[in-house]
Amino acid sequence: MRTVGIDLGGTNIKAGVVDEEGRVLERRSIPTGLSDGAGAVLDRMAGLARDLGLDGTVGVGSPGLIDHAGGRILECPNLKDLQEVPMRDELARRLGLPSSGVALENDANVAALGEHWLGSGRGVDDVLVVTLGTGVGGGLVLGGRLYSGPGGMAGEVGHVVVDPRGPRCGCGRLGCLETLASATAASKRAAEKHLPREAPGDLGRLAANARLGAAAERELLVEIGRDLGRGLGAVLSLLDLRTFVLGGGFGAATDLLEPGVRQGLEERSYGRRIASVRILPAGLGSDAGWIGAARHAMTRHAMIRRGSA
Ligand SMILES: [Zn+2]
Repeated sequence: MRTVGIDLGGTNIKAGVVDEEGRVLERRSIPTGLSDGAGAVLDRMAGLARDLGLDGTVGVGSPGLIDHAGGRILECPNLKDLQEVPMRDELARRLGLPSSGVALENDANVAALGEHWLGSGRGVDDVLVVTLGTGVGGGLVLGGRLYSGPGGMAGEVGHVVVDPRGPRCGCGRLGCLETLASATAASKRAAEKHLPREAPGDLGRLAANARLGAAAERELLVEIGRDLGRGLGAVLSLLDLRTFVLGGGFGAATDLLEPGVRQGLEERSYGRRIASVRILPAGLGSDAGWIGAARHAMTRHAMIRRGSA
């Protein structure tokens, strides 16, 4: 069976088709066109699914807090017009599917599923996938299944408080991991040290200079890695996870962040297990979201068929 996955973002909608063996059959990307309103965005998503040869079910990954029962985005600053819109039912109606034919899940959660299925988390039962982008997202796969918790908030490692005297976070608290180790935060930290960079949030030059041996850049990436490790230390202590996958734009600097991450983990967790912890760069790049959304839809569809959901 071919399953369509859609990754809804503030700027682009990425989508594709994958079969049950994990063969990617096709992929597309179109502008979200938020300024045209919620109805137009839903029309575009439905059109994309049809163009890709929708056959049965579609999975959608979206940023923000998802109301699973209602099939809608409850809260998402980047997609304000889509908040409270009954997305699952509206998409199902446009596609002539029952509501159960559309599976809606948080984007970091589906990215984790994607990485677990076909990316760097392949072959392990338990993995945390951390997305280092504008913010820090997280998705948790436990025992081979997505664990999102009763409120859908599990894996939100970006709001683990790392430094209670740190910068103010968008959530209102001080020193959340997100304020220290997101791509945005890294860019800010580089600016404070007067290190050359490109556009805010673009860390390509920072990483490239570090790879060429620039001491200040290397040091900053170790520092940021240490803060990341401090946040992940809480996860290691609680869940004894041995695999952490770093994705998002900043995930490309995983090799440079890793020495610091190990220091932070050592500092904030207990037991002699750091040596067996693996810190891996994400393997699917920007395909993780839609692939994971499709995987989520497949799994849910199979559960519905078996009568266990
Ligand atoms: Zn926060």
